[in-house]
Amino acid sequence: MAVGFYNFQKLHNPEFNSEIKEIFGNIIDSNGFVEGDYNFKFEDEFAKMQDSKHCLLVANGTDALEISLLAYGVGHGDKVAIPAISFYATAECVYNVGATPVFVDIDPATGLMDPASLERVIEKHPDVKATIPVHIYGLPAPIEAIEKICNPKNIKIVEDGAQSQGGFYENGRPIGSSNNLTTYSFYPTKNLGAFGDAGAINTNDDKLAELIKSIRNHGRSPNGHALIGRNSRCDHLQAAVLHTKLKYCNQQNKDRKQIASWYIEALKDLDIQIPDEKFINLSSWHLFPIQLKDRETKYKLQEFLKAAGIGCNLFYEKSLPEEEPIKNNDGEKENAIEFAAKTLCLAMHPFITADDITEIKEKLVEFLA
Ligand SMILES: *Cc1c(COP(=O)(O)O)cnc(C)c1O
Repeated sequence: MAVGFYNFQKLHNPEFNSEIKEIFGNIIDSNGFVEGDYNFKFEDEFAKMQDSKHCLLVANGTDALEISLLAYGVGHGDKVAIPAISFYATAECVYNVGATPVFVDIDPATGLMDPASLERVIEKHPDVKATIPVHIYGLPAPIEAIEKICNPKNIKIVEDGAQSQGGFYENGRPIGSSNNLTTYSFYPTKNLGAFGDAGAINTNDDKLAELIKSIRNHGRSPNGHALIGRNSRCDHLQAAVLHTKLKYCNQQNKDRKQIASWYIEALKDLDIQIPDEKFINLSSWHLFPIQLKDRETKYKLQEFLKAAGIGCNLFYEKSLPEEEPIKNNDGEKENAIEFAAKTLCLAMHPFITADDITEIKEKLVEFLA
């Protein structure tokens, strides 16, 4: 029995397909293609879901990061502290506003930014102006500890929540409800995905919300143009997809939670490192990462699962400081390099069954024997 890494057939089932086709038909008939009713409805509902005051849709998750840095005034000559484990965009956005990244090492158990490393990096680089903790795999980054370090020094925090729709901080509050800017990606494979690209920024700050609205739409203000902005609007069709999918998202996240707890129960006695069960009710369970004993074992398991028809993926094959175009940067990275070498993500989507987990466990037991 094959287990896919994703399952778009079930996600976009016939019932959902006919629902969305009817909405697309109405939008085409209305000729309202950008910033339409579905944009405003979705922004309202997604802000409520993440318990933040504002949600501003933008064109994609990378733009959400860049625009957040711009809104905080980060630019040429500034340094931004980023975790050494993330998707490449977390580094790209820093360069694209003219700043330079400094790497922060990660907690070897989770892949999340390590506050002790952040503290050392800021000490060494007092010109760090902002930091981008990432809620990687959907696990919550330790935001309270990071705020304790950054707030007294007025270092701005942009939370990269691309993988954490529906997730919660360690204190149980929804990710996105903090007083930082939190960014989202709605790339099709995320927990909430569009039919193409889309992203968002959540904030509790009215002034930042106005500034972000202006930046995403060519610097427009009620009296003309107030600043040099850009085009990062989210189109109406994508907003309609997101609005339609949002009502299924909470249940799908609950299903991911159930699957994660099945995984943890099934794999806890095996000779691999898995996420701690304290995350069961907190993580959005975008991915289920496991750590093998070394890089070679990871590649062997990847081949073994592939031959058995079981989906798995390497996120991330390299740490950010090992990526050629961005490697010549300062900071700390030792744990991240080892973490990237040993980590493999098992299949995770809302339609995995208890039988699938049993099968995956059997394969892992066979492999590790
Ligand atoms: C997907 C992702 C992004 C980028 O989002 P896009 O919508 O592809 O631009 C940024 N950061 C993380 C951690 C991601 O997973």
